[in-house]
Amino acid sequence: MYRTPRINQPDSTGQCRVYIGGAVRDAATVNASPGAVALDASGIVIAAGPVDAVLRKTGSDIVRIEATDRLLLPGLVNAHAHLDLTHIGHQPYGGDFVQWVRMVMGGRTSDPQQIHEAVASGAEQSAAAGVFTVGDVGSRSLGGLPVRGVGFVEVIGHHDTVVSIDGATGVQPHAPYSTGPGVYRQAAASGLPVSTHLAETPAELEFVARGTGPFRELLERLGKWNDTIAAHYGRGLHPVDWLDHVAGDAPWLCAHCNYVDDAQIDTIAKRGWSVAYCPRASDYFEHEGHRYRNMLAAGVNVCLGTDSIICHGTLSILDEMRHLYQRDKTDPQTLLKMATINGMRGLQFDGREATFAPGARSGVIAVAYDPSTKIDPLRQILSAKQTPVIEPLEGVT
Ligand SMILES: [Zn+2]
Repeated sequence: MYRTPRINQPDSTGQCRVYIGGAVRDAATVNASPGAVALDASGIVIAAGPVDAVLRKTGSDIVRIEATDRLLLPGLVNAHAHLDLTHIGHQPYGGDFVQWVRMVMGGRTSDPQQIHEAVASGAEQSAAAGVFTVGDVGSRSLGGLPVRGVGFVEVIGHHDTVVSIDGATGVQPHAPYSTGPGVYRQAAASGLPVSTHLAETPAELEFVARGTGPFRELLERLGKWNDTIAAHYGRGLHPVDWLDHVAGDAPWLCAHCNYVDDAQIDTIAKRGWSVAYCPRASDYFEHEGHRYRNMLAAGVNVCLGTDSIICHGTLSILDEMRHLYQRDKTDPQTLLKMATINGMRGLQFDGREATFAPGARSGVIAVAYDPSTKIDPLRQILSAKQTPVIEPLEGVT
């Protein structure tokens, strides 16, 4: 389905490149059909919009690339991925989350070379699916790979000791049920981008509020439950409020948030945290009724993630957009914003870097659609039953 990446590197001849598509679009101000985007020799956007207007800004010494049955978009952003699990591939969900976590722990490799290969394979699959920026849990950095982004070092445990985060570009305390407040405070104090799994399952809500349920049983089975840990839970708090009390000041990127009420949405909005919603993963784990539209309406920066490939077998953000459009009829432009600008902001980057604004380094992807109909190209792509052909034309690394 995805073509092998043919991502252009900066042009040593010094020529700028003009991609001419059936249409060009971003989540800011660019929307033209037909449309073009021009990049300078180093891959920085010069102009985007109607073809004539773009050509007026470029002069004549250009490389012109025609793609008239393609919609040109900036590279997409996957705000929450686990590329180190790519080698496991798609697996069924048996209905028991604790069992599932144990399956993943069993399949996870500790060999650095194998981890590197899994992350590299995930990065290649991401770029081939038009995803150029990734918030990846597990890798310290994404250097040398065809995607840019944040490598969140994941920290798990109820210890209060300081953990080495040298060389990391981000930190992720795993989740409130697996990881104690000391780790959350250390992550928040690091000044790096911070992320965590939050309010993902009813079992997590039960554990944080009452100190009971499957996660308490798991900690007991592992011989890790004691009075010191018990003191941090069982005070009736929702995980969002627990995090707010523990280390609310940091710009948290909260993965999932499947179970939140208005009060928690309010807290997330007031704190300026972001939410990484992983639609297909939420459906895979049978979490219904995600409130991303209420969050957006409340001013929360909601971005899109794939979570791991185990849930659905692809690392494509366009597949997440298609899923939401076909399930909820969510406005296409809102989905594009979640998949670009919001994702960058969630990772603490400038949102413009995933638009065609002059000066941005967004990359360019081309997505196939049928220009012979009057239907809006983005809507066509989102309604497609099969993943449309995606070509990563111009990378960002
Ligand atoms: Zn995750």
